[in-house]
Amino acid sequence: MIQQLDPTPGWDICIIGGGATGLGTALDAAARGFRTVLFEQHDLAKGTSSRSTKLVHGGVRYLQQGNIKLVMEALKERGLLLKNAPHLVHNQKFVVPNYKWWEKPFYGIGLKIYDKMAGKLGLGPSQFLSKEETLRLAPTLDPEGLKGGVLYHDGQFDDARLAISIAQTAVQQGAVVLNYFPVAGLLKMHNKVCGVWVKDHFTRKEYEIKSRVVINATGVFTDSIMKMDDAKHKNIISPSQGIHLVVDAGFLPGDTAIMIPRTDDGRVLFAVPWHNKIVLGTTDTAVDSVSAEPVPQQQEIEFILKHIGRYLSKDPGLGDVKSMFAGLRPLVKSKTKRTAALSRDHLITIADSGLITITGGKWTTYRKMAEDVIDIAIEKNELAPQPCITKELKLNGYDKMAPPADIISLDTDALTKIIKKAVEEELCMTVEDLLSRRTRQLLLNAHEAIKAAPLVAKLMAEQMNKDETWIKEQINTFNEVAKNYAPIINYKP
Ligand SMILES: Cc1cc2nc3c(=O)[nH]c(=O)nc-3n(C[C@H](O)[C@H](O)[C@H](O)COP(=O)(O)OP(=O)(O)OC[C@H]3O[C@@H](n4cnc5c(N)ncnc54)[C@H](O)[C@@H]3O)c2cc1C
Repeated sequence: MIQQLDPTPGWDICIIGGGATGLGTALDAAARGFRTVLFEQHDLAKGTSSRSTKLVHGGVRYLQQGNIKLVMEALKERGLLLKNAPHLVHNQKFVVPNYKWWEKPFYGIGLKIYDKMAGKLGLGPSQFLSKEETLRLAPTLDPEGLKGGVLYHDGQFDDARLAISIAQTAVQQGAVVLNYFPVAGLLKMHNKVCGVWVKDHFTRKEYEIKSRVVINATGVFTDSIMKMDDAKHKNIISPSQGIHLVVDAGFLPGDTAIMIPRTDDGRVLFAVPWHNKIVLGTTDTAVDSVSAEPVPQQQEIEFILKHIGRYLSKDPGLGDVKSMFAGLRPLVKSKTKRTAALSRDHLITIADSGLITITGGKWTTYRKMAEDVIDIAIEKNELAPQPCITKELKLNGYDKMAPPADIISLDTDALTKIIKKAVEEELCMTVEDLLSRRTRQLLLNAHEAIKAAPLVAKLMAEQMNKDETWIKEQINTFNEVAKNYAPIINYKP
């Protein structure tokens, strides 16, 4: 794909950012027949898009806030994702445990409305449960004072793997998708944006990329690209950090997730089975600066352990946490200070220079966001109108088994096969790419990931023709990142 950069005189659509939003946009654009190129500064989905709660959902909590339009749109997208990416998205049962008399009718009616809103794309009806039925589904819920529960359905997925699948589908549709290609500046002619200036992170070679449309899809980094366009730009993103803790499946055996509808700060908290572990989360902490590797704060860890401990018969402690990860929500600023109340809706803006920015939204609605932004790009730039086809487009790998997320139990032969495929077909460039996003080892068990790094580096070096220096550098860089996922190294109980 790099070889296509030099001879292509001009592109129709150039996208900055390889998270859910940018990749979805590249797929939509390429599928409509536009010459499309995407640049990601790190790895695909290295940002927020690999750090979500892994739910494809309408958003029960947005229903609580009365945001009907957002919930309807997300429920429709949930149904489309289950249809088009069944290898990575599945129907997940959730129980809302009720400890107060009013909770069952209150949440039960709310969830019946949620079912109705999903219409034909519903994943199964919600049900009122007795105390015994609730404990059968979630046996480790604290039985004391438990009155019963409400069962409902939502979607669950593997976020980074879905990002790779969307990227592969975009490439099949003719797009060029490059990771480790930071955009360092915008090209302008007569004050209009006409392309980008990019650098190959590994070779340091620079490229001038001419494009009729440039789309900024950089999540929490949105403002940095808008400043390249206009030095006086005032920030529009208010980043909010959310963390997750990963514990062994024994804390919530079975295949049912728990949704706790109200924490002390008025949020919902999830405990969700994922790749034979349980993901607990999340938090909502306003932060001042953005980073590619945000780090969980001690009070966020304590908040999750304290709240989940109230509902489980065996409380997880810090020593039980196998991994933890933090992500940054690209929330669009509004006048309110409380980030939990800021809009999850997406925002599309067009600067005087013609630079299009798309931000906000959520993973679940990435396809709709992409459709909207390409519709606008066509309208504003006199591109030949082509209809969006992604509602019906199956994503790459939909008919195959997804690769294993946890690699610890694999023998060297099986691991070599996974690495070969990742390097040859999935743009995997570093040990961290492999352990964090091509497989999910780092998010499932950070210590095991650190132990696996030397073998992974050696096998990758064989595939990629790299030397001992590369192997050493890769292991060191990976360990530096991984230590922030391993709680015991960083925080004392
Ligand atoms: C804690 C948490 C939990 C969440 N849970 C869910 C959930 O369960 N379900 C759901 O639907 N949504 C969820 N979301 C929301 C969802 O994850 C985000 O809305 C989505 O991932 C945002 O994707 P994005 O592409 O806009 O941003 P990102 O994924 O951050 O992608 C932006 C990319 O732009 C790149 N970039 C930046 N600058 C440059 C540059 N100069 N050149 C090239 N590339 C650049 C970055 O490296 C980054 O990879 C959650 C979010 C958080 C934070």
